[in-house]
Amino acid sequence: MVESEPNSRNQVGRPSPIVRPGPRALGIAINPEIDSITVGIVGLGGTVLRRVRFSVDHVPSAAEAVAISAQLIDSLREEFDLAHRAVGVGVAVPGLVRTHDGLVRLAPHLGWVDEPLAEMLEEAIGLPVVAANDARLGTLAESIFGAGRGLTDLVYLNGGASGIGGGAIVNGAPLRGISGYAGEFGHTLVNSSGVICHCGARGCLETEVSRSSLLRAVGLADVDADELENALLASDSPIVAAEIIRQIDTLAITLRNAINTLNPQLIVLGGFLGALYAVDAARLELRVGEQSLPSARDSVRIARAELGTRLLMIGAAELAFESILSDPSSF
Ligand SMILES: [Zn+2]
Repeated sequence: MVESEPNSRNQVGRPSPIVRPGPRALGIAINPEIDSITVGIVGLGGTVLRRVRFSVDHVPSAAEAVAISAQLIDSLREEFDLAHRAVGVGVAVPGLVRTHDGLVRLAPHLGWVDEPLAEMLEEAIGLPVVAANDARLGTLAESIFGAGRGLTDLVYLNGGASGIGGGAIVNGAPLRGISGYAGEFGHTLVNSSGVICHCGARGCLETEVSRSSLLRAVGLADVDADELENALLASDSPIVAAEIIRQIDTLAITLRNAINTLNPQLIVLGGFLGALYAVDAARLELRVGEQSLPSARDSVRIARAELGTRLLMIGAAELAFESILSDPSSF
């Protein structure tokens, strides 16, 4: 910090009016998941200085996630001089988050409903905390430091173990919606006679295009994204080929809708969606091309996400940096 309270743990009253991140400023990132809590220390410019992953043997409650996060951050306090250098904390949540106060409305896989996560963390850590949906932070990170650098209009879709998340940058600004829930491409309709999704609707993208069906087709249990991609690339099984084609053709429907609705310059695919693209980019481009409006199609490109495992740490920390830059008085 260029100027800050000497002890950010006991911050009371209004902070200095000239608070802004100095070159040594650090953002703290937190990502609670069903099997782990990850904390990161991130410098300006998207440099991940440290990433600590704490495995849990059961799905953590919000209170447990808060306690573990606070402990992990405490263990890094001295080494990174967080009392003087940390500007704030950003949390990437696998669920729906109300942006203005960081309330987790629903994180289906964590089983969290209406948890005031940002408030709980602020109390435990003593730093300002902002929280947002993980895919929306992935969008932010890729747009600033990844495949979408310098672009004003892009759509991001990420395929993970628990479904498909997404986000968009429109006219240079993140697409939020009135409460912060915009960009749920995983729950757009791709098959009107498909199965019922956990959201209650029928034929959502994330029920039709899934990592688990790909794993089933290649006959593997849980593997990481790279191993799955290698298995898909190496397979000569007709069953695997048919499943890849089915998923690519289905994904193309959502991409068509995104292109015709938002007119992006770039569509960024992360997680297993990036693997599908790597396996048969030509087919996805063909399918998207033949059903999108020519006017919008001509200006769009498809690319893989670039930030890999650093994505959410960078996105969450960036949220903390941006919050303090855009509204220093709020801290
Ligand atoms: Zn759904």
